[in-house]
Amino acid sequence: MLKFNDHIALALSGGKDSLTLLNILVKLERRFPRSKLTAICVDEGIEGYRDEALLLATKMCRRLGIEQVTVSYKELFGITTDEIVKTLPDKTPCSYCGVLRRKAINKAALMVNATKIATAHNLDDEVQTVLLNILHGDPTRLLRSGPVLRDVRGRFLTRIKPLCDIPEKEVVLYAYLSGFEFQTIACPHGAEALRNDIRAFLNQMDQKHSGTKFTLQRSAERLRELLTERAPGTELNDCEKCGDPTPHRFCEACIMLETVMA
Ligand code: SF4
Ligand code: ZN
Repeated sequence: MLKFNDHIALALSGGKDSLTLLNILVKLERRFPRSKLTAICVDEGIEGYRDEALLLATKMCRRLGIEQVTVSYKELFGITTDEIVKTLPDKTPCSYCGVLRRKAINKAALMVNATKIATAHNLDDEVQTVLLNILHGDPTRLLRSGPVLRDVRGRFLTRIKPLCDIPEKEVVLYAYLSGFEFQTIACPHGAEALRNDIRAFLNQMDQKHSGTKFTLQRSAERLRELLTERAPGTELNDCEKCGDPTPHRFCEACIMLETVMA
């Protein structure tokens, strides 16, 4: 995942996963003098939730002496997640929020000249996403997830997930044993309902049949290999609105913003 001279942009939310990854990457960075680590924080504009997380993230960056860059949806896109919620009939903004977060992190990473983006998805997050993609009827999305996302066309920064084989329980344990403060309250807009059901199902399966999550992760890896061999390469255009690479005329974020700001 990493080279000795990488400049890693770590997506830091202030939750247990990203603070754990920050603590681990700092140790690695100190062993490799030509590497660099920058924390990227995104303020989605969620009142009573994100402010606390950003404070915890800032506190940790100061303690560890890590450069921190914070970008906000309001500055970048002119709208916050709270404002997006008001425009949605079902009041579930996660798909919008997720697409905008990816774009915001990418922009910030390019701004600081990072060579890779690291996110703190753990084993549980990863296998939930695998099942979500399958249940949404879009197994080819598997190609857009996984431990290392490298764009062979060189248009997107490589994204890595160093904690992808670590069960959530172990990340929580690491965070508690390290004694750092992390955000424990959940986003008021809640996670996608289907993801919650999948989480409960996988926890139940893993408890009854130990190792289920790891097996699913390995199966997804194998499926990705098979899909990559068969998937035709997609040509990328420049989004006609923002210039970012996209297989269509407009990127997903611009299409979403157009809908919610209309
Ligand atoms: Fe955004 Fe949904 Fe996550 Fe809340 S739970 S921060 S709305 S993606
Ligand atoms: Zn665009």
